Amino acid sequence: MENDARFVADTLRRVDRGLLLVVTGAGVSAASGLPLFRGTDPDAVWNRDVTEIGTRRFFEHDPVRWWQWYLRRFEGLLAAEPNPAHQALVALEQWQAGRGGDFLLVTQNIDTLHEQAGSQRLIKVHGSANRVRCARPGCRLGAPYGSFPATEADFTRFKELPARENLPRCPACGALVRAHVLLFDELYDEHTDYGFSEVRRGLERMALALFVGTSFSVGVTELVLREALGWRLPVLSIDPGAAGPPAPGVVAVRAAAEVLLPAVCGELGA
Ligand SMILES: [Zn+2]
Repeated sequence: MENDARFVADTLRRVDRGLLLVVTGAGVSAASGLPLFRGTDPDAVWNRDVTEIGTRRFFEHDPVRWWQWYLRRFEGLLAAEPNPAHQALVALEQWQAGRGGDFLLVTQNIDTLHEQAGSQRLIKVHGSANRVRCARPGCRLGAPYGSFPATEADFTRFKELPARENLPRCPACGALVRAHVLLFDELYDEHTDYGFSEVRRGLERMALALFVGTSFSVGVTELVLREALGWRLPVLSIDPGAAGPPAPGVVAVRAAAEVLLPAVCGELGA
């Protein structure tokens, strides 16, 4: 572990120009008690029909069951606390800023743990569990620009009696309200809050890609990986379940982020 931390720290130190791009996935929140989205965890959200329910098609067909599923899931997400991995990424951002470097954290997680920990340059490409939006595209509170805090959508009646007429409505147009998260049958560029064009701009300045707790099966990881390898940039992947490098050219460090990242910060004096 000590060697791994020193190796990662040395790799980060050697890259002294350009953007340090960090991509996090469910693994970074696992130590906060949140189930993995994919992977071998028997409690993985993935195992519970997420590709069927987590779609716009399902929302349009059965918004009651859709919201019941999401509300239960969001409750757990929003009750969680940041763990040492989230905190170490804040320290890493400050370390990078302190030496005049550029930093960008792209997370696939819809929990709010990175911002709770204090990350500043953060893009939530899959949206956020603490926001909702109007389900009608083009409404000022819906895609592609609008959203509002989930606390302003009142689910009290719906929780007492889950029926369509008890679902909260858009305050601007009266359409149904939906979660402000990327669904499986939707695209990154459907909403500006997903920050996908900012990710693309970041790729042009990227000097190193650091993946933390993510499989490489989701769109944004694939994009960043392909770009980094194409430019022959250093690519690190921290994943306790890694069986080996996900692609040639990627250095896989088999460790839990909440253990390794604080040790890396220790090495860096961050
Ligand atoms: Zn509306």
